[in-house]
Amino acid sequence: MSENCIFCKIANKEIKIDLVLETEDLVAFKDINAQAPFHILVIPKKHYETLNDIKNPELLGKLFEGVQNVVKKLNIEDGYRTVINTGKKAGQEVFHLHIHILAGRPFTWPPG
Ligand code: 5GP
Ligand code: ZN
Repeated sequence: MSENCIFCKIANKEIKIDLVLETEDLVAFKDINAQAPFHILVIPKKHYETLNDIKNPELLGKLFEGVQNVVKKLNIEDGYRTVINTGKKAGQEVFHLHIHILAGRPFTWPPG
């Protein structure tokens, strides 16, 4: 738990929001500022600032298993984008590791 981290507060249920998925290790919930019809964030319950800080391949695997289960649950398996922004230069704003899942509209490449 990192003080003043909004995602720690969500993971610890200090802030009540509807969860799309919860396991022992992670929670998934809707992004407050959705960039697509479906925009879900998958986060570890434990605080890691960025992808660089997590030295636990098993937990990384569980997070991606969480992604698989979210897209199954929402029936968007046939087309979705996953994004992890790492560092300010890449657009990271919340420094608690999270995987974005976006779906429900066409996506262009390269990304902006
Ligand atoms: P980043 O830019 O760090 O990759 O993405 C952070 C994401 O978290 C943004 O898409 C933003 O809309 C979302 N976000 C920030 N604060 C909150 C919050 O309090 N609740 C929810 N549900 N999403 C948030
Ligand atoms: Zn945190």
